[in-house]
Amino acid sequence: MKELLATAVESVGGTERPGQLTMAEAVQKAIRTGSHLAVQAGTGTGKSLAYLVPAVRHAVEKGKCVVVSTATIALQRQLVDRDLPRLAKSLKGALGREPTFAILKGRRNYLCLHRLDTGAPDEPDDDMLFDPFAVSALGRNVKRLFEWSSETETGDRDELNPGVPDQAWRQVSVTAKECLGKDKCPFGTDCYAELARAEAGRADIVVTNHALLAIDALQGYQVLPEHDVVIIDEAHELVDRVTSVATSELTGGMVSAAVKRCGRQLAEDIVDRLEEAAEGIREIFDDLPQGRLDQLPRPLEAVLKVTRDAAHTCITALGPDRSTKDVDSTTARRQALALLEEIHDTSVRMLEAFDHQDRDVVWLSADVINGNPRPPVLRVAPLGVAGLLRERLFAECTTILTSATLTLGGSFDALARQWGLPVEAAPAQKAAGTATDIAPPADDDVPSWDGIDVGSPFSHEKSGILYVARHLPPPGRDGLTPAFLDELEGLINAAGGRTLGLFSSMRAAKQATEALRDRIEHPILCQGEDSTSLLVSKFAEDEATCLFGTLSLWQGVDVPGPSLQLVVVDRIPFPRPDDPLASARQRAIESRGGNGFLTVAATHAALLLAQGAGRLLRSNDDRGVVAILDSRLVTARYGGFLRASLPPFWTTYDPGVVRGALARLNK
Ligand code: SF4
Repeated sequence: MKELLATAVESVGGTERPGQLTMAEAVQKAIRTGSHLAVQAGTGTGKSLAYLVPAVRHAVEKGKCVVVSTATIALQRQLVDRDLPRLAKSLKGALGREPTFAILKGRRNYLCLHRLDTGAPDEPDDDMLFDPFAVSALGRNVKRLFEWSSETETGDRDELNPGVPDQAWRQVSVTAKECLGKDKCPFGTDCYAELARAEAGRADIVVTNHALLAIDALQGYQVLPEHDVVIIDEAHELVDRVTSVATSELTGGMVSAAVKRCGRQLAEDIVDRLEEAAEGIREIFDDLPQGRLDQLPRPLEAVLKVTRDAAHTCITALGPDRSTKDVDSTTARRQALALLEEIHDTSVRMLEAFDHQDRDVVWLSADVINGNPRPPVLRVAPLGVAGLLRERLFAECTTILTSATLTLGGSFDALARQWGLPVEAAPAQKAAGTATDIAPPADDDVPSWDGIDVGSPFSHEKSGILYVARHLPPPGRDGLTPAFLDELEGLINAAGGRTLGLFSSMRAAKQATEALRDRIEHPILCQGEDSTSLLVSKFAEDEATCLFGTLSLWQGVDVPGPSLQLVVVDRIPFPRPDDPLASARQRAIESRGGNGFLTVAATHAALLLAQGAGRLLRSNDDRGVVAILDSRLVTARYGGFLRASLPPFWTTYDPGVVRGALARLNK
């Protein structure tokens, strides 16, 4: 392994890094023994090579495919465009042949040539109802997609830069259920999704995303090529991504779209029942309060039953798949069936959720997007995905999970519990159920796993300071206080700009931006004023510039060098008390006698804090400060757990000391 890794490192122009060989050897051992592995490897470890080298070796020597799953497009691109091509060439001599690799995503990620040719069917129109500008923006984006379709070689949505909103993309793509199938589709031989699948079927390494990995686990059929090892990078995001794939929703617009898709294919009286269901949904959803539903209100039960039955009647009336040569009618039927089945299955799941509250959570939300209120949406999501992962992932193949943040409070336990892996401190913990009727396996099926922290090449104690503003009052509900803004102003001025402001809400990010633009001379960019990637580029280019924002910045900013020397966190990022999933998970743990707050809310906050603090040191020469302007980090009982989740920076509570240190860096 040592020689192979050295060859690979040389091929990408890198140097040997501490922890990299330890990780590569641990991954190799896991693959050989079949025991699952969680590896925490700090930024700069070179962890992608540390898992790719043993993975490639296994794939070539055993003739088996290895799947590598990532959460972000940036990492996918890094693997496919940079690491794998060089690695494959460099290992050819040692392995006897050049390893092959391919990228595979869900069908919805590829341009559908058939839809491009025939046009999109009626889509749920909820997005358009309240936003006249959305209509013209949609037209512009679809025009751009048509232009792009004549240039692209892969049809992969992620290659489109800048991207387009989901609604525009839906006009040129299909779901797996809507697809006609390669043999029936007139474009089957040129189909981008089919070509990608075929290439993946021949490859040693298949790079995919957590969503497709979840679909592969959730569906009864295989969408990924047969494989015996899965490597999950950015594994701290796995549970959220799997949860979102397992979440379904219902709106009046969806049912109205199904009515239009049924169109002339069905008798009027049958379609009328579906139309009535759509009206019923709109009426009832408008009357219901937003938030989690612990009981099923009678009117909602009635409308869900009407919807379920109306969708079922339409599905039955459309009849079984007829092998017809008439592509237009097959297409229309597929499109109607795909939406009807989704509506039917979601209604059934929502009705059953109230009998199985340890499995699914239902809530109503009315989102506001770009200042425009959207019609209410009823959603259903699994309370946990541990049972699913244990049954459909860990029981199926050797799984290696890695990220810079996998230990919280100094241990893998919190994340291992969410994944359904046994935890030493609480081996008897029952894995939570899932949306897919999968009971947690019996305890004699307990998967074996190891956890290893290979550390970080950075010297956190020497390169970074953790400053906690202990003197500030704990943050309240009424926005940022004058004392907070004074503190922030002092820190930014000492740092000479160079500040990434991570706020727990968009409202707070905007308030800080508006208040400080009048008070400091350094430019401040605020998330939402332009595309996030463009804002991050501007921030990186100009050292004096600051960038304020919320959730996606906590995890997605990678700016090495002097442009980022201060990371400010406004408050501990607990989930909102009215967050339906987090509050339901917390309650479920408390009902089993556990500490719901620590297991759910504090774990969520610890993961985000660790990710946020991880924005500071991105290269060996980086120096700076992580400033947490929430005194609860040192005064509250859970503070110790949160602090133990952060990198081991030198810590101070003295504002004078930290401003002095920032000023010295700024010289
Ligand atoms: S096979 Fe499916 S995805 Fe491919 S072009 Fe045809 S309908 Fe579209």
